[in-house]
Amino acid sequence: MLCPDCKTATPGGSLCPGCGHTVPERETFAGQGGRYLAVLAGVSATLLAVSLLARALGAGGPVLARLYARGWQWLYATFVATPIIVGLYYWFVLREEEIAVTDEAISRRSHWGDEHLRWADVHAYRRLSLPLRQTRLGRLTWFSRFFPRGRPDSAHGRLSGWPGATYELAGPPDAQGHSLIMRLEPGTIDDMAWLLELVQEHLGPPQEG
Ligand SMILES: [Zn+2]
Repeated sequence: MLCPDCKTATPGGSLCPGCGHTVPERETFAGQGGRYLAVLAGVSATLLAVSLLARALGAGGPVLARLYARGWQWLYATFVATPIIVGLYYWFVLREEEIAVTDEAISRRSHWGDEHLRWADVHAYRRLSLPLRQTRLGRLTWFSRFFPRGRPDSAHGRLSGWPGATYELAGPPDAQGHSLIMRLEPGTIDDMAWLLELVQEHLGPPQEG
């Protein structure tokens, strides 16, 4: 493991030789679903506030008034409610997301299935610059660049940039020649920068691919 305070490589559960703090045996990372929900609920609230204000001030008066008169409020309601509905969807798919790192292995609980890889079994570690539309969360991932970078108690998290790339860990091939691919995608996991540093401690820097 790495010491969360000074990044000295130290076995989990022992005292860091650099700063004397106890290094955790296990680090966990949660999904970012709650943050998508909060941001998109904010977008819905803003749309609602702006449109109520516009109505009160009479902006777009005849057009809006005509829409209401024809019973088209549902169109307006859909417009205001869409962001929060999208946010609820992302909260739902990311609610189970959790990645745990120890000195032995990395494991993930997820809506898309649970995965477990021992460091010793990882055959390849790659960094892919995929277009966001090819990631599991799609283009919405873009929002995550506005999220806090890391945990409030860690300086490393706040200082690092947005890792906009996808990282892949390939496991050993099974009898059919298929190997488990664990994908760490931008915008799914809390404090991705710190997670990548912990991965790099065991696997070295990723291959570009
Ligand atoms: Zn330390």
